[in-house]
Amino acid sequence: MVNNWLNYLQFSSIPPRCVLCGGAGEPALDLCNGCRGDLICIANPCVQCGLPLQGEEPMRCGKCLKYPPYFDRVISSYLYQEPFSTLIQALKFNARLQCSRVISQLMVDQIAHAVEPLPELLIPVPLHVARTRERGFNQALELARDLSRQLKINLDFKSCQRLQQTKAQSGLDAAQRIANLRNAFSLKNPLTARHVAIVDDVMTTGSTVNALARVLKASGVECVEVWAAARTV
Ligand SMILES: [Zn+2]
Ligand SMILES: [Zn+2]
Repeated sequence: MVNNWLNYLQFSSIPPRCVLCGGAGEPALDLCNGCRGDLICIANPCVQCGLPLQGEEPMRCGKCLKYPPYFDRVISSYLYQEPFSTLIQALKFNARLQCSRVISQLMVDQIAHAVEPLPELLIPVPLHVARTRERGFNQALELARDLSRQLKINLDFKSCQRLQQTKAQSGLDAAQRIANLRNAFSLKNPLTARHVAIVDDVMTTGSTVNALARVLKASGVECVEVWAAARTV
């Protein structure tokens, strides 16, 4: 009972209120059953990059077979479409803490099913200092903080830096995206963890997290997962 109340206090409003429709939330979750049911899940993701595949067998997509990414697997269960996109927009522009809690709780549900063992360390995708200053916060860090608290995994948002203010990735082709991110990240301190999860809000092509995974692997990390709240296809 005491634990239930602590959970309530930590992770939802009292009483829980749906961040999408304003109706009554599920126990200890600021999302109602109906809105949760409207979120679109990726049924059969590629076991490495998380893109939706035909059929039901767990497998790698053709792109991962041909050009294996540096990360080992992606957990991103929801499509970046309505209504999940509304949650992410709210995370960026208002209702920040409440949305971060809801999104991280949805992520924990998926991670609990998918991952064994859990990583030793969470690294949010860093924003360039100028971008953080402009926005006031880094939404990947907000999510990573909540995930760290819920899953009791250490969080490191200081060792990895975003070096350059990269151009927006949209509108660039695959080769330009890679060039744009070639020197985007660096590690200030070596990591002792050998199993790490990169945390991001939305994964699009995966080139940003792949650039970061490359730096982590080069520094001796053996297994890099990507935990993204949602992904575009
Ligand atoms: Zn609702
Ligand atoms: Zn793939």
